[in-house]
Amino acid sequence: MFYCGGCEDQYEEPHFLEACFLCHKPLRPNTDIFMYRGNTPFCSKECREEQIEMDEAKEKSWKRASKRSVRQSDQTNTNSSSSSSSSSPNKTVRTGTLVVA
Ligand SMILES: [Zn+2]
Repeated sequence: MFYCGGCEDQYEEPHFLEACFLCHKPLRPNTDIFMYRGNTPFCSKECREEQIEMDEAKEKSWKRASKRSVRQSDQTNTNSSSSSSSSSPNKTVRTGTLVVA
C-alpha cells in the first residue's frame, strides 16, 4: 500500500463543476452553468432556484427557532411562579449549590 498525501488530495478534490448540485446532471463545458453562492453549480435556473428556496426555508426555520427561544425565556420571566415548577423543573438548579453542608 502506497500512501502519498499529494495523490490522495488529487483524488479527494471535489470536481464541483462536473455535475448539477441538485439533480446531479453532468455539466458540459459549453453549456450554461448557473452558479450559486460562489461555488455551487446548477444545470438550470430551475435547479438553482429550488436550492435557493430550500436555503431560504432553512434560514426562516432558523429565525423561527431563535424567536421561539426568546419567547420561552420571556414566558418564564413573566409567570415564573405558576409555570416554572411544572413545565421546566430544570430551572430550579438548587441541588448542586445548596447541598453545601
Ligand atoms: Zn440540475
